Amino acid sequence: MEYNSFFNLQVELNDICNLTCKHCYQIRAKAKEELDIDLVLSQLENLKKITGYQKHIFRLSGGEATLRKDLFKVIRNIKSHGYYVEVMTNGMFLDLPYVYALKSSGIDICQVSMDGSSAEIHNYVRGQGAYEKSIKGIKNLVKVGIPVEIKLTLIKGINTDDIRNMFSLCTELDVKYISLARFIFAGNGIQNFGRGNLIGNEVRDIFYKIAETGREFPQLNINVRDQLGRIVDIDIPKNVDMTKEPYMGVSYLAIDTYGNVYADRQLDIIIGNIHQQTLSEIWTGSSKLQDLRESKKYLRGKCIDCKINDICLGGNKTAAYALTGSPFEPDPGCWINEPINKIQLVDNFDKNMFQ
Ligand code: SF4
Repeated sequence: MEYNSFFNLQVELNDICNLTCKHCYQIRAKAKEELDIDLVLSQLENLKKITGYQKHIFRLSGGEATLRKDLFKVIRNIKSHGYYVEVMTNGMFLDLPYVYALKSSGIDICQVSMDGSSAEIHNYVRGQGAYEKSIKGIKNLVKVGIPVEIKLTLIKGINTDDIRNMFSLCTELDVKYISLARFIFAGNGIQNFGRGNLIGNEVRDIFYKIAETGREFPQLNINVRDQLGRIVDIDIPKNVDMTKEPYMGVSYLAIDTYGNVYADRQLDIIIGNIHQQTLSEIWTGSSKLQDLRESKKYLRGKCIDCKINDICLGGNKTAAYALTGSPFEPDPGCWINEPINKIQLVDNFDKNMFQ
């Protein structure tokens, strides 16, 4: 799936989940509410005219999207408007009859989260029995012909030495896509892995490893979803794309179960709510979103004079925000110009963003 040519709308269909993963960024109480997809669809019509994108993909997440009882109906509804649909899931409920029904509903691609190539690693993060069920689910998806993308959250000390094994696992399972994203210091993850897991040169080293190892798996489409992927300066094989993460405010919005809208779902800053404003009003009227679009104007610290700040726009804003309280501070994962090698800040957040 060539995400770069799509407008991405990540929508959280529900709030409930069967797991409590150690790295999960959501820590709020689990509500029974479910997102009104018709409201989103009606508002997207106008937003389309403003953004000018021809292709739109709904990335359906949760909670756990497959726990939404009317998921097939939701997918059919979205498909009837001509949009693409991806379901993002932990893969634990994908038995064969369910997967056939998913295929019939018109799904375009299914993203399954895997945190390691072995039960030992994956179950450590997600809980006992998760690995076996998710692997079975992936096999079922492949069997019925639904394209699969495995999503790996990179966590230092947990799976950063498991990259080659993950690529091998994809090959064994006949999975054609894998995307990799850095663990963000939020939610459960702060307690379990600390604020500062993967910083500075550690990020550079893992991105280099992905590129170099990816060369051994030319049949696998490997996507790095991180702004700093754009500054990797080694020879990158054709099957590895380091530019998958869109710039904020250009081709992506996220909506949670309550209708809150975000520039990035992991950037914990609400920029509007679809029950009070339309998506178009939020897209054009949110000053926070506009500031994020114009990030270069507000960069701080070492990013201000950095010669490549046009390329990364200050790096991964969710990581900067999670560590400092401002998305405009330098990304703690940046290895250019005096990288951070030790995190000292823990609780002294300066919530001074957008000031
Ligand atoms: S110093 Fe800032 S602008 Fe330069 S590469 Fe690092 S994050 Fe990007």
